[in-house]
Amino acid sequence: MSKDHPTLLVNATEANQRFSRLLAESEQGHEVVITRRGRAVARLLPVFGGDEAETSFGHPVGSDLPDYDKRRALIDTCRQMNKIGLNQGASGNASVRVDGGLLITPSGLDYDKTEPVDIVKINYEGRVLRGSRNPSSEWHFHCRVMAAKPEAGALLHTHSINATTLACLGRSIPPFHYMVAVAGGRDIRCAPYATFGTEKLADAVLTALDGRLACLMANHGMLVMGRDLEDALKRAVEIETLAAQYLKALAVGKPQLLTVGDMDVVLEKFKSYSAWANPKAR
Ligand code: 13P
Ligand code: ZN
Repeated sequence: MSKDHPTLLVNATEANQRFSRLLAESEQGHEVVITRRGRAVARLLPVFGGDEAETSFGHPVGSDLPDYDKRRALIDTCRQMNKIGLNQGASGNASVRVDGGLLITPSGLDYDKTEPVDIVKINYEGRVLRGSRNPSSEWHFHCRVMAAKPEAGALLHTHSINATTLACLGRSIPPFHYMVAVAGGRDIRCAPYATFGTEKLADAVLTALDGRLACLMANHGMLVMGRDLEDALKRAVEIETLAAQYLKALAVGKPQLLTVGDMDVVLEKFKSYSAWANPKAR
């Protein structure tokens, strides 16, 4: 290493906090050695620093993991969900179907800190097939819904403010607006309360999802299916919007409900309406 660019010794906690800064140091020619309790545990090679500068950097770390793109998409969707206010903190979870089971977010890990290697692969019984972290505590309902609904490619669970407010009132969303049809039926049911992470909650959710693509979960949040992550996110945004509109309408008076006939017309129309036409997910 050149005298101009001495090696930096950084302890692991500090490295965690300032990783992008350390990358910049390595780009300026420093070799960065990360230590834990005084012992070297990792090294960033200098990119422009002397003879070793020709190190090849082919692909992102972990990109050789199976289903890498789906792992990334799962993390991106969760980050997006928090960014647009559909969820907050480490609440909520998500899964996406892959060959042999599903990829699911790890339990309790901030989405900003989640990397592809942290995503857990489980089978439909919830057995971990790949990954060292614990799968989301809600693996029961992710597995049961994925097993029961082969048309679902992705599931999103959020504690979004408006849907959760209704869920805390134990209220389903009736056909107060035609867009309720995005959840696949004439209303969006609220599953009765059951403790998070239990089979009982999975049972309640499956019943509420009968003929539906989404439901609320009493005193908890919402669950949304999609043919893929993008579809699920779009539907979750719409349902959160409906929840906000319904709460506003309730605050002023008694919302006027559409009839069974009105909703059946909309449901029929949605079969060929490009924004929500999703025959496979019905
Ligand atoms: P996990 O972090 O275990 O997925 O739990 C979050 C949650 O929303 C539980 O219902
Ligand atoms: Zn939850």
